[in-house]
Amino acid sequence: MTVSSDLFTRAQELIPGGVNSPVRAFRSVGGAPFFTKKAHGATLTTADNQELIDFVCTWGPAIHGHNNPIIREAISDALFKGTSFGTPNPYEVEMAELIAKMVPSVEKVRMVNSGTEATMTAIRLARGYTKRDKIIKFAGCYHGHVDSLLIAAGSGALTLGKPDSAGIPESLAKETIVLPFNDLSKVEEAFANYGEQIAGIILEPFPANVGLIFPESGYLQGLRNLCTKYGSVLIFDEVMTGFRVSAGGVQEHVGITPDLTALGKIIGGGLPVGALGGKAEIMDYLAPLGPVYQAGTLSGNPLAMAAGISSLKLLLETDAYASLEKMGKQIATAIADTAKELGMPVQVPQVGSMFCVYFSEKTVANLDDAIATDTERFNKYFHRCLDKGVYLPPSKYEANFISTAHQQGAIDQATDILTQTLREL
Ligand SMILES: *Cc1c(COP(=O)(O)O)cnc(C)c1O
Repeated sequence: MTVSSDLFTRAQELIPGGVNSPVRAFRSVGGAPFFTKKAHGATLTTADNQELIDFVCTWGPAIHGHNNPIIREAISDALFKGTSFGTPNPYEVEMAELIAKMVPSVEKVRMVNSGTEATMTAIRLARGYTKRDKIIKFAGCYHGHVDSLLIAAGSGALTLGKPDSAGIPESLAKETIVLPFNDLSKVEEAFANYGEQIAGIILEPFPANVGLIFPESGYLQGLRNLCTKYGSVLIFDEVMTGFRVSAGGVQEHVGITPDLTALGKIIGGGLPVGALGGKAEIMDYLAPLGPVYQAGTLSGNPLAMAAGISSLKLLLETDAYASLEKMGKQIATAIADTAKELGMPVQVPQVGSMFCVYFSEKTVANLDDAIATDTERFNKYFHRCLDKGVYLPPSKYEANFISTAHQQGAIDQATDILTQTLREL
């Protein structure tokens, strides 16, 4: 009996499925999850003292690796001043200024406690601002566990084979129009039919909860044009890609300006944070200025703000994006080249420090393509890599993350293991 399996047995008695977030349960790849007792840099140490090179990076937030000393110091400084005040605090102002400086479309911002809260608020705000009810979302895009968005959702919902959650009223679901990603004609058709009722479009501009998918040329611009034409709100969910793909997220990377942006993950530096930002004219519809209510007892929490500010400043002050891109390219190229040599159908989409390994003949452009990739082969690959000390995300529908703490050593070591394991499949 290992320490992890003992903990998992005890956890299952009291916590549904033994986990506090479903993807952690390894349901997709099979087997039991390991427990982590500590983490440092690019390495997780399991409860049984196995050391793993981590490509999950706490599902995105840890862009500076685990237990980064500078972020730890910032949290510690804040900790000694008190953990929560219930009044505005100076960190919130600094955080708002940083986000507005880094993310091109953000004129005003509201801090929340998770990505889910950010997208939930974005939807309510789009509806309150336009006085319309319908929302367009895309199959396979995951926007947290918001009722009206947990329809054809990615990530854990998809991993468990239940992209539509139980417990969501039909009356609410019918206000959500679900379309396939990368097909602009379907969106045009929806606007032609319901244009005057559509409050907004929400999307992950680079869907990364079904692996990693890129928009086809002109697609994002087409969505922007439709929203402008019909007076609908374009919402980029950059909870995962914000501060990851570049300092200003996908919107900066591709030069498309959304009306609202949901942020999370990296912005908390490893503590629970989300944010919603965008055009001042729309953001001013939020309480206390406007009629759209939103609140949070711990929103703008000083510890979380200190961690986030420190994490964002580190990105600005170091040459982080250039070195992350170099590491991402090295791994993706090595896997793709090895697969080619083996004649194995593999796609390795990569941008900066995000990549994904799809066992597929063709480029994955939407949810159906992602579902059609070889699950059995992925699961085998996952387990063999884990046995050799490399922790990939435990589902073919998740993206891999690299941190600045991986550095050349961990990347070289992982590249060897990832390519060697491919040869053994
Ligand atoms: C993780 C994620 C969310 C949800 O964020 P939580 O902090 O888990 O609530 C929303 N949207 C995207 C794109 C995400 O990757």
